[in-house]
This record gives sequence, structure tokens and C-alpha cells, in this order.
Amino acid sequence: MKKISYLFLLIFLTACLSDAPESTDFENDEKAVFANFKKEGFAAAPKNIILLIGDGMGVTQISAGMYMNGNKLHLEKFPIVGLHKSYSGSHLVTDSAAGATAFSCGVKTYNGAIAVDMDTMPVKTILEIAEDKGMATGMIATSTIVHATPASFIAHQKSRQMYEEIAADFLDTEIDFFVGGGKKYFDRRETDDRDLYKELQDKNYVVSDYFQHDLIKSELSRKKNFAYFTADNDPLQVSQGRDYLYAASKMGMAFLRNRSEQGFFLMIEGSQIDWGGHANESDYIISEMIDFDRTIGAALDFAAKDKETLVIVTADHETGGYSILKESEMGDLKTAFTTDYHTADLIPVFAYGPGARTFGGIYENTDIFKKMKKAMGK
Ligand code: MG
Ligand code: ZN
Repeated sequence: MKKISYLFLLIFLTACLSDAPESTDFENDEKAVFANFKKEGFAAAPKNIILLIGDGMGVTQISAGMYMNGNKLHLEKFPIVGLHKSYSGSHLVTDSAAGATAFSCGVKTYNGAIAVDMDTMPVKTILEIAEDKGMATGMIATSTIVHATPASFIAHQKSRQMYEEIAADFLDTEIDFFVGGGKKYFDRRETDDRDLYKELQDKNYVVSDYFQHDLIKSELSRKKNFAYFTADNDPLQVSQGRDYLYAASKMGMAFLRNRSEQGFFLMIEGSQIDWGGHANESDYIISEMIDFDRTIGAALDFAAKDKETLVIVTADHETGGYSILKESEMGDLKTAFTTDYHTADLIPVFAYGPGARTFGGIYENTDIFKKMKKAMGK
């Protein structure tokens, strides 16, 4: 069994290497092209929406990633930037469950709530609304797929800790594509005898324990759904060799585009920027931030070619009270933290493509749901 796992890991790593990373370099000319998207034959309203959430990604996390990446991030290409107020229905300092529920449902709820309101009543999510409209849907995360952020788009539970209940909620949806950790909540459950891994297979999913490019390419024509488990529980850190966010995101965009005439909704989470903040580890934050930004670059490239896709990048909250100190130099940062939890900072929002213009200014986190829903024209 161990040997087989290593073989899969080897196949996975080889697949990653063969998909050569694109340079993060870009010239000012290219930046101008992105800034002038309105003049380049873009649709009036988006057909597709890609929402990228950097968990715990405040302005300092972005700044540190940029200064440690040759003073460059794909985020700089976005023509529209806004700020949202991240507080929840119960606390000025939100958690990721209430933070994601604000985006997914448009309601301020209590910390720990998964797509339910202050009275624990389920609220329809943007992903469910997209499904109702016949759009294809997908989620990719670098945490478990049942963790608070992705869970809030697909499940309805009164507590974020109810991982097995959240996993079961995946079976009540028509999600076309998902990639993340947490396999054990599907196939080795403690609260019941269900084997959700098998139930997914019975429900027309190709289910895989590892991210294998050849498999998805060969299966693309088969009109099947895809579920990829990248870990039994939490996936690795970037610095430990995790390298699927960019590849899975590119694959997900290509797959979902061919999946429905009605377009798609895709949520991509850089989950572990937050975990670096909780650990008060600057290097952890920076490596996860740069990995997430590379994925943002892939989404921008897709949208620039597609011309019918709205790309939104934001965070649920800042984590760590992270700051860059005066001893710092470009490429060599001295940093500090004021907490091992989240803070109540205003959070940046970046938007590109049809419908992007509405994302400028300062507004509530719940307005991101409203703006996405309006942009869908639904
Ligand atoms: Mg998260
Ligand atoms: Zn957190």
C-alpha cells in the first residue's frame, strides 16, 4: 500500500513537472492590455465566474508575497480594486466559515456557521444558484474540501466542525469538479457506515486519490464528474512539495468551460495563507501567497482569452496582524505578528472582466455575493 502511494506521488510529481510553470514575469504592455479589457471585445455580462479566495490574505500578506517575488504579482494586473468589511454577524473579527458564508450566501452569520443564517436556517449558496441555472460548478482548495471555506459554498451545517455531515452534503449537489484534501471524511466515516467515495462513483464521478493529468485528459470526453482527493486529511504545504493548485485550476477551467452551455462557477481557495498566519510563520505565508498568485495568473490568462469570464480575488479576513518592519529590504523582510488569530482589517477585492467595474469602492463582504449574483444576470 505504501509503495503504491509513493508510485502515485511520483506520477503526480512527474505530471506537475511536465506542466511547466509559466513565468510570473510580465511587462507593462501586458499590464495595459489587462487594464483595457473593456476595449478588447469582451462580453457585456459574464458567462463564467471564477472566485479566488486567499484565506487570511490581507494587504500585508500580499505585500510580503510581492516583495519576496521580485516586486511582482499577477494581482497587479487587475484594473479594479475595492475593499470589503469582513466582520461577521456575531463578531467584529470573523472566522472563515462566516466569512465564506458572506460571499456564498450574502448573509452575515455567526462564526462557525456553514451557509446557514443567525438562526441556523440554510441559505441558498451562489454555487447552488449556479446549478439551478444549469451552470457547471467546481471547487479547488489547498485545505480539505470539507474545510470552512469550500464547505460554505456547498453544505449547510450549524458548525464548521461537522466535517462528515459536510462531506455528505456534497452528494446532495451536482458539483461537476472538486479537488482538495479530506478523503477520510468520505471513505472512513465515524458517524455512519456510508462510503461516500463509492457513492460518488455511483453518481457518475471519476474519483481519484491523486491528481493525475493524463486521467482527466482521457476522461474529458466521457461526460463524467471529477472528484480528486489530494490528501487523507490536510494537504501538504507548498514548501513540503504540494503543487496542484495551479495545475488543478487550469484543468478545472478548461473542463468546466466544456461542461455547460450556461457557463460555470468556480471557487478556488489558497487555503493555507491563513495557516501561515496562525503559525506566525512569515515564510509559510509567503510561499503560499506566491503559489496562490501563480494560480491567479492562470485565471487571468483564461479570462483574457475567453472574454466572458469575471475573475474576482479576495480574502475572508486577515490572519496574524502581520506587519513588515523597518529593518526590511526588498527581498529580505523582517516581520512581526500581533496575534495568532484573525483581525478585523478591511480586505482587498480585485476584479477583472465583464461585471468587474461594480467591485470598486468600499462595501460589506456580503455585497460580493450580491455583485456576483447580479453579474450572472440571475
Ligand atoms: Mg479556508
Ligand atoms: Zn484562520
